Amino acid sequence: MKRIALLGATGSIGGSALDVIARHPGRYAVDALSAHSKVDELIALCQRFRPRIAAVADPAHYAALRDGLAAAGLPTRAAAGPEALAEIAADGGNDTVIAAVVGAAGVASTLAAARAGKRLLLANKEAVVLAGERLMAEVASAGARLIPIDSEHNAIFQCLPAEGSRAGVRRLVLTASGGPFRDRDPATLASVTPEEACAHPNWSMGRKISVDSATLMNKGLEVIEAHHLFGLPAERIEVVIHPQSTIHSLVDFVDGSMLAQLGQPDMRTTLAVGLAWPERIEAGVAPLDLVALGRLDFRAPDTAAFPCLRLAYAALRAGGSAPAVLNAANEIAVSAFLQHRLAFLGIPALIKATLDRLPALPGDTLDDRLAADAEARRVAGTLLARGGLA
Ligand code: NAD
Ligand code: MG
Repeated sequence: MKRIALLGATGSIGGSALDVIARHPGRYAVDALSAHSKVDELIALCQRFRPRIAAVADPAHYAALRDGLAAAGLPTRAAAGPEALAEIAADGGNDTVIAAVVGAAGVASTLAAARAGKRLLLANKEAVVLAGERLMAEVASAGARLIPIDSEHNAIFQCLPAEGSRAGVRRLVLTASGGPFRDRDPATLASVTPEEACAHPNWSMGRKISVDSATLMNKGLEVIEAHHLFGLPAERIEVVIHPQSTIHSLVDFVDGSMLAQLGQPDMRTTLAVGLAWPERIEAGVAPLDLVALGRLDFRAPDTAAFPCLRLAYAALRAGGSAPAVLNAANEIAVSAFLQHRLAFLGIPALIKATLDRLPALPGDTLDDRLAADAEARRVAGTLLARGGLA
């Protein structure tokens, strides 16, 4: 029996993970669940999955969680605060950690799971962008097993000749749906709303990653993520727009072979791979009907209309703290956009202005990167308050 800690249980990835876990009660048990602040949802999940521990990241909700668990007659222990998530990730009571918190807030728990040598199902891509060098070092020294829970990286993971090997690989090709605005006249992008940005054509996801998909920053973060996970430089990681989201990514080998992984745009496939690898388990996902699908299309990304992808490549090439700055400025910009405080085109403008003000610093400890993250949030917040962005 595998014992699972699911961090970010109330989110989109969290829900998909629990759906797969519930299909295999003899194989997986839930040891711990966390949420940011949705106490009622978390208690309902505890009633269903009976974890040993439940945690809220926001300590203001601790009493409500503790009392709610008691009122429901559950033996589940309540915990709170960001430290509680890192403790759960390191706890010997579970062997598998699903890192599905959104944003840089997930970095400490993700690193803790790696350091504890867990099977780490890693959805929290911002943690990789922020602290990829540290994360991969912890994984290697603790002998953790990292399985990417991002459909593109999971596809590449499945296509590589052996786990952790890049023998004979010429380049990686990440596919991108292009988001909800891929066919839109770029001249009309200035006025798009958060609701339009969150209406993804193929995938149903949390609001932050939905906006990232609309700006193509999601693909930019994924290029940096692929660099760390697979150890290839920026010039060997390419992005192609593939509107059907059927091919989840490809590996191009030196002999001219290209291997691709195909499937429905449903993260339950990815999570089932992460949970069972190298075995395969049922995920509740329908098979592809290739004849009904009919065709697969590809085109180059438009980085003039969607500059976030270009900014991410530039940050990866600059190295050091630049990806952490990019990520933090993006989190500030997306949050402001979702609150109607920044226009859609203000997102790349704010990120670029923040990067322009903060030179890349070389240190790669977690403290170095958290300092860069904090400084970028401060600078982006000041620029935002000053206004004048697109
Ligand atoms: P979501 O917003 O639906 O869920 C986020 C989860 O994190 C929630 O449980 C929330 O309570 C928790 N959370 C939010 N802020 C927190 C904080 N400060 N501290 C602790 N917990 C916090 O997001 P999602 O779409 O499930 O995405 C989660 C992660 O997975 C992101 O990094 C995203 O980029 C990545 N990802 C998501 C998908 C997808 O299909 N949704 C695909 C690939 C990768
Ligand atoms: Mg992805």
